Amino acid sequence: SMGRSNYQFYSHDLGSKASEYIAIGTSLRQALRNNEFVLHFQPQMDLLTGKLLGAEALLRWHHPLHGLLPPDDFIGVAEESGLIVEIGEWVLENAFNAIVELNRLRDDKLTVAINLSARQFLYNDLLAAVSRLLEKTGCLPAWVKLEIRESLLLEENPDVMAVLNAFKAMGITIAIDDFCTGYSALSYLGQFPVRQVKIDRLFMQDVVQQQDRAELVNAIIRIAQALHLELVAEGVESASQLAFLREKGCTMAQGFFLGKPMLLEELKQLRPELLGI
Ligand code: C2E
Ligand code: CA
Ligand code: CA
Ligand code: CA
Repeated sequence: SMGRSNYQFYSHDLGSKASEYIAIGTSLRQALRNNEFVLHFQPQMDLLTGKLLGAEALLRWHHPLHGLLPPDDFIGVAEESGLIVEIGEWVLENAFNAIVELNRLRDDKLTVAINLSARQFLYNDLLAAVSRLLEKTGCLPAWVKLEIRESLLLEENPDVMAVLNAFKAMGITIAIDDFCTGYSALSYLGQFPVRQVKIDRLFMQDVVQQQDRAELVNAIIRIAQALHLELVAEGVESASQLAFLREKGCTMAQGFFLGKPMLLEELKQLRPELLGI
């Protein structure tokens, strides 16, 4: 209600934490101006064909003093300060440009998956921004996947549903990033135009060593299949995890074993057939 870019702290945040937050918030603004953000792209693979399907865009901050910072170090502050709206538009524009560049020379078009914060839905005309940036970059909606968190579906905000429906009508894929990590979104899922779900990498840990973990992932795969949802497994770090997923019928995956987040130039050079999957 105080408008964009207002810093607000709860009492437990006051003190050194607050000044740290304000410091990051101020330099985030500079970071946008000075072009210090960079996108890395993590390959997403088709496990049946061994082909590259696309990539997830993951934000990094090239901090002049602290080096390359992962999103967990600054996304929270960006969300609280409202700057996530501008940063999010930067991400959209740059991810769209990247996929246009990648697809220019390809017959089999790739997709780019982009992470969205709830705040981008709730406090901003996201639909207008996406439409404008698609037009500006020449990116086709069919090349775009927008990753949201399960909790967004629980927001009692009719606009969320309307925006998601509009994205679907445009031909954009909506994916749930942290499928089954929430507790009650499952019952809402059918009402939303969601096409894809991702198995969080936490579920993939120890999947080969622990029987109960294996059964949990198996159950998640079955749920996705029953709901006719596309399924991507995250956090695949080994050949045995990959074998497990294939055996259980999960056909799309990403993870360090298949490719770490990399620069666009590296993604262009990627030869998935060398992975032998
Ligand atoms: P996420 O959407 O769950 O993204 C996957 C995270 O898992 C990435 O961390 C990726 O580097 C990491 N990862 C990928 N494969 C493996 C693996 O095999 N093993 C392990 N241990 N980790 C793996 P990253 O890049 O640090 O991103 C963290 C989170 O930050 C993301 O989690 C996403 O929620 C958020 N994020 C990233 N980029 C953006 C963005 O542009 N906007 C917003 N709003 N959030 C973003
Ligand atoms: Ca994601
Ligand atoms: Ca996540
Ligand atoms: Ca995840």
